[in-house]
Amino acid sequence: MTWQRQAACAGDPTPSDWDDEPYSDTAGAIEVCSGCPVKADCLAFALETNAYGIWGGTTTAERGGVRLQRKGQCGKGHDLSLPGAAVLVSHGARSYRRCLVCAEQKRRAT
Ligand code: SF4
Ligand SMILES: [Zn+2]
Repeated sequence: MTWQRQAACAGDPTPSDWDDEPYSDTAGAIEVCSGCPVKADCLAFALETNAYGIWGGTTTAERGGVRLQRKGQCGKGHDLSLPGAAVLVSHGARSYRRCLVCAEQKRRAT
């Protein structure tokens, strides 16, 4: 996605701060988001994909997302470790596995 090339978090030296875990400095991550030129696109993407972690200056809980039981699942609980279940999307300092099961369900619903 083009907007991701302008991500203020690209090259951030502390990728774990974006994980939204107890060990993460989420305040530091959210501060980076506050000056990001693509914050709105980022938030829209996170809402659409049930992404996990800090996106668009919000935490997983703030977006109403269900915290994942484990990182191997998408926001709806699909197992992303299965072959062909996910594609890797790079996002700033991190990469994110986008669930293809959810993508397919969304495609059929539209
Ligand atoms: S997470 Fe989104 S809003 Fe925050 S810095 Fe990265 S691209 Fe920008
Ligand atoms: Zn899914």
